[in-house]
Amino acid sequence: MLNDVTKWFEQNKRELPWRSTTPWGVMVSEFMLQQTPVSRVLPKWNEWIERWPEPCALAEADKSEVIKAWGRLGYPRRALRLWESAKVITSEFSNQVPQDVETLQTLPGVGDYTAKAIATFAYGQSHNVMDINIRRVFARLLDGQEHPKLSADKREREERPVFGPTWSAAVMELGALICTAKNPSCEQCPLATSCLWLRNGRPSSGKNRKSQSWVGTKRQCRGAVLQKLRESDRPLLQEEFNWPEKSQLELALAELIEEGFITSSNSRYSLAK
Ligand code: SF4
Repeated sequence: MLNDVTKWFEQNKRELPWRSTTPWGVMVSEFMLQQTPVSRVLPKWNEWIERWPEPCALAEADKSEVIKAWGRLGYPRRALRLWESAKVITSEFSNQVPQDVETLQTLPGVGDYTAKAIATFAYGQSHNVMDINIRRVFARLLDGQEHPKLSADKREREERPVFGPTWSAAVMELGALICTAKNPSCEQCPLATSCLWLRNGRPSSGKNRKSQSWVGTKRQCRGAVLQKLRESDRPLLQEEFNWPEKSQLELALAELIEEGFITSSNSRYSLAK
């Protein structure tokens, strides 16, 4: 089974630049890929690595530059946490991304999954990497379930197979390209003969996972505020954001100030320096 998956991977994998890069390059990719698809991450990752090829380079950047450079990748807290991590790596770890999971988890924005992914893909260690694609493949293959639970439980964390970088990357790619959330291509799958969900006739879990609507949400409002400020060469008044719902805009502005993305002076807003 292991050989079939790695053989499939060798023949079908996408050429992604973070598969042959520095530990810092892996770390940047893991931050960007947390909630954003590969196609949108690719140009941004290239841009960031060219501009900030090492943690110490990013650590020296201004906060406003970092927020601007994150662009429309979404969930911009990740940009600030990555910048803060770069500062810690520079000052406390001699500009080297730490290798062990425990130390990695002390860095801002690095949780259990990200720490294990960095240790696996940057340093060749073996960990149970709980990426959503890997979780979906195992839920079907081993549990006969169409979808994994919303978040990994103790059983998943402790009992799933632990593999090194090649097999983890291979299963992740299988989940992204073949064992997709909707309409998996089981006829092309190297695990088909062992898959419990397929053997059981692909029973539906009955849960139709709708993606969360974005239009009109506070997230959209926060994104619109940051985008306006990225594009503006001067501080903006509240009404210049042209957001239809005043209370939502006020809440978004207050949150962005609180979280350190923007500042306010004389009723005008700008990106934090
Ligand atoms: S056989 Fe189908 S459901 Fe099972 S792991 Fe392969 S793609 Fe996923």
